[in-house]
Amino acid sequence: MENCLFCKIIGGQIPGDFVFKDDRVVAFKDIHPMAPLHVLIVPREHISSLADIIEAKAGLVAYMVTVANKLAKQNGVADRGYRLVINTGPEGGQVVQHLHMHLLGGKPLDGKLG
Ligand code: 5GP
Ligand code: ZN
Repeated sequence: MENCLFCKIIGGQIPGDFVFKDDRVVAFKDIHPMAPLHVLIVPREHISSLADIIEAKAGLVAYMVTVANKLAKQNGVADRGYRLVINTGPEGGQVVQHLHMHLLGGKPLDGKLG
């Protein structure tokens, strides 16, 4: 997808600090970390938002969760706890229009959701 920031990071046109790659999903560090661990889990396929996830693609979101869980373990936060966030649409706070899941951890996170 042209002019998509995350497609460009996945394609190597823009550098990314990758922590995971496979054939379906990549993960790289957020450029403006909100917690000691702040990684974005991103499908290679350009899907604009969680709102575009139809039943046939639901497995991809579940897979993103398993990657996040693995990364949480690797980074030593699995037992302490962590947070997975998918901002969706303008009022959901989504800025980059390529589906991504935030993995946040490594400090007590504010309990508020909004
Ligand atoms: P959203 O608000 O769409 O859920 O999250 C987008 C995230 O992408 C933000 O947390 C922001 O810091 C991150 N981000 C924006 N531009 C870049 C970039 O060029 N590289 C990386 N690694 N992260 C970025
Ligand atoms: Zn994209």
